Amino acid sequence: MSPRPDLGPWPHLGYAASRIDRAAEKRSDAEALRALETDATARWYVLGGELVAMRKSASTLDPLFERAAAHDLGPAGPQSVFLGMMDGAPRFALSIEAAAMEALKGRDDYEISDLRTIAVRGMVDDVHLPPLAEGKSLLVWHSRRRFCSNCGGQTRVVDAGWRRDCPSCKMQHFPRTDPVVIMLAIDGERCILGRSGRFASNSWSCLAGFVEPGETFEDAVRREVREETSIVCGQVKYFRSQPWPFPSSLMIGCHAQALSHELVIDHNELEGARWFDREEVASMLARAHPDGLITPVPVAIAYHIIREWVENGVDFD
Ligand SMILES: [Zn+2]
Repeated sequence: MSPRPDLGPWPHLGYAASRIDRAAEKRSDAEALRALETDATARWYVLGGELVAMRKSASTLDPLFERAAAHDLGPAGPQSVFLGMMDGAPRFALSIEAAAMEALKGRDDYEISDLRTIAVRGMVDDVHLPPLAEGKSLLVWHSRRRFCSNCGGQTRVVDAGWRRDCPSCKMQHFPRTDPVVIMLAIDGERCILGRSGRFASNSWSCLAGFVEPGETFEDAVRREVREETSIVCGQVKYFRSQPWPFPSSLMIGCHAQALSHELVIDHNELEGARWFDREEVASMLARAHPDGLITPVPVAIAYHIIREWVENGVDFD
């Protein structure tokens, strides 16, 4: 058996480890918010649909804009939201109309890209990814919740973008976060990786699925693995979580103890799934697999879940 490849230092998990202090107590204080908006250190992230605006400078891309510059980028979309304080400076996110964002693509002084590409390519400093994720999820929620889901009336924004109220039926609407379990089912020295039709043909990853109402995330892990592969799992161990702003998921990363062996693939969910031994997965993480098979990019939690097992193993009681 060849020695396991050195994978180097652990990469940053995208959209995680936010340095934002959300300062929630300021959201309902109109006077404090006005002061924050006019603070000399206040800056805005500018988004439009899936896209983020960045200003080009000599060697970097800067996603932060002063208030006037942010509003100058195009007609404001549905909302501006207060994200919180970063190192003592107020941070906001503003949506501009998608057409205005598209128009900026033709400008030499701006770079326009989607948030997934920005993270994968490391286009901005890592410190910006969590507030961009926060802003994008919030702004997408606003764009889809202009009307009350209870009575159909028009809702209005309150709490600096953190709630929408319905004046007709008095219902309060809060931004949503959708929990998704993402897991590696393990049997000793081997694990199950799957691939969906959306993946590149050589790419294999963890299984994943939405948590359903009335379900713990441990039960969701066991149900999803069984539905997709027919494998029965026992213990489930939580590993880490990751905001995934496409548009508002929270990925709950787990390792699961596989108790059965025979895979029966649900081809409505997966194009394929199979057992991989630990050495083969190590070569995939290192981009050194003889057939070119790969695991997901390091900004995604799947990479971290897989690497944790490969390098450190997972003990089930
Ligand atoms: Zn209503």
